[in-house]
Amino acid sequence: MFHKILIANRGEIALRVQRACRELGIPTVAVHSTADAEAMHVRLADESVCIGPPPARESYLNIPAILSAAAITGADAIHPGYGFLSENADFAEMVEAHGLTFIGPSPAHIRMMGDKIAAKTAMAALGVPLVPGSDGEVTDLDQARAVAARIGYPVLIKAAAGGGGRGMKVAEDAAALDDAWRMARTEARAAFGNDAVYLEKYLDRPRHIELQILADSHGAVVHLGERDCSLQRRHQKLLEEAPSPALTASQRSALGETVTAALAQLGYRNAGTLEFLYQDGQFAFIEMNTRLQVEHPVTEMVCGIDLVREQIRIATGARLGFTQQDVRFSGHAIECRINAEDPETFMPTPGRISAFHAPGGLGVRVDSALYAGYMVPPFYDSLVAKLIVHAPTRPEAIGRLRRAIEEFAVLGIKTTLPLHRRIVDDPQFQAGDYTIHWLERFVGQS
Ligand code: ADP
Repeated sequence: MFHKILIANRGEIALRVQRACRELGIPTVAVHSTADAEAMHVRLADESVCIGPPPARESYLNIPAILSAAAITGADAIHPGYGFLSENADFAEMVEAHGLTFIGPSPAHIRMMGDKIAAKTAMAALGVPLVPGSDGEVTDLDQARAVAARIGYPVLIKAAAGGGGRGMKVAEDAAALDDAWRMARTEARAAFGNDAVYLEKYLDRPRHIELQILADSHGAVVHLGERDCSLQRRHQKLLEEAPSPALTASQRSALGETVTAALAQLGYRNAGTLEFLYQDGQFAFIEMNTRLQVEHPVTEMVCGIDLVREQIRIATGARLGFTQQDVRFSGHAIECRINAEDPETFMPTPGRISAFHAPGGLGVRVDSALYAGYMVPPFYDSLVAKLIVHAPTRPEAIGRLRRAIEEFAVLGIKTTLPLHRRIVDDPQFQAGDYTIHWLERFVGQS
C-alpha cells in the first residue's frame, strides 16, 4: 500500500479522495493555491503545500510545483481527481518518471482517449458501435460537405481535443455547414490549441448513457452499470441517475459485455467511463473519460463499491477483489449538481457563505467542501456541492430528493438548488421521460 498520497485537486473531490485514503489508513497531502488557504480540503488534510497564486494554470495545473510538493512531503502516489491534470498524459508520465505512482490509467491510454478521433477508431476496431460520422479527421470543407451528404443533416462538428462541450457546432443543413465548420475550428483552436475536427450525425432525441468500468493490471475488467446523464445544459450535466429509467437489465448486461471485452483487449487499467448516446434502442459511443467522474457517487450508491478505494488498490497492483457476478445493483440513486450559479441566468455567483446546513437521514449523501463563513472564490469551477440520494425505487428516490432539497440551506450566494427543486416536481422528469434536449427547454420556459 502507499505511504502517503498527494491529492492534486481542490473542493469536494479533494475531500472525497481524502476520505477514501483515511479509511485505508493512508496519510494525505493537500495542495492549494493562495486563494484556497482556508479551504476545507486544506483544513482536513494531514499536510498541505501552497503551490501558487489563484489562477489554475499557476497552481492546480502547475506540474513542477505539484511534483515538488510530492517530493518535499515524501508522497509516493498522486491522485488527480477530475478536471485539472486528471486527463493530462504528460503529467501522468512525469509523475511516473519521478518514481511516483499516478493513480489512474497508463499515459498511453489517457493520450489515446484524449484524442476523440483516436478513441473512436480504437473502439470501432474493438467492436463498440459508434455514432455515424466521418472516418477520422475532416480536413477541408469539401470533405465535410461530402460526409454530411452521406450521413444526412443535421450534423455535428466536434473538436478532436474537445471537452466541456466546447468546439461543438450543429449544422442544420448544407447552407449552415460553412459557418458551423469555421466556428467549430476557431473555437477548438482557441480552447485546445488544436483545430482538428470530425463530423457526427446530430441525433435529435438521444439519452446520454455512460458505463462505469474498473480494470486491474492483471486483465480483469468489470462494469458497474450505467448512469443516465441526459439532463444537461449547454452539454454540461446537471442531474444524473442510476440506473437509467430507459434501460432493461438485459440491455445493461449486453452493453457491459461489449465494453468489458473491448477494454480487456485494450489492456486498460483503473477506472474509466465510456459515454454513449442511446436512441431507438441503439447505443453509439461518443467518448471515453479516463478518470473518476463527478457523478461517480450514483454508481457507488447502487453498487455499494467505493470507486476511489478501488482506484487506489488497483494502482498498487492489487487484483480486483470481485468479479462481474459479484456486482449487485440495488435501488435507485440520483445526484444533483449544486453550482454557485444563478438558477435562471447561470451566471457564476462567487461570494461568502453565510450559513450552511446539509440534509441528512437515510439514503442521503452530501459531497461538498462548503462551510459557513467560506468564501467561494471566483477562479474555479462553479460546482460547490453534490446531493446524492438512494432509495429502493425511483419514485422513493425522487421523494427523498425533494425533502433533502427542502432541508438543504446554502445561504449568502445563489445556487442551482431552486432549479433542482423544480425539476423534481416536473411530471415528465418523474416519468423518466427525457432526452439530452429536455433540460434546455425546461429552463427556457421558466
Ligand atoms: P465533451 O467532451 O465536450 O463533453 P461529448 O462528446 O462528451 O463532448 O458530448 C457532450 C454532449 O454533447 C453529450 O452528452 C450530448 O449531450 C451532446 N452530443 C455529443 N455528440 C452528439 C451527437 N452526435 N448528437 C447529439 N448530441 C450530441
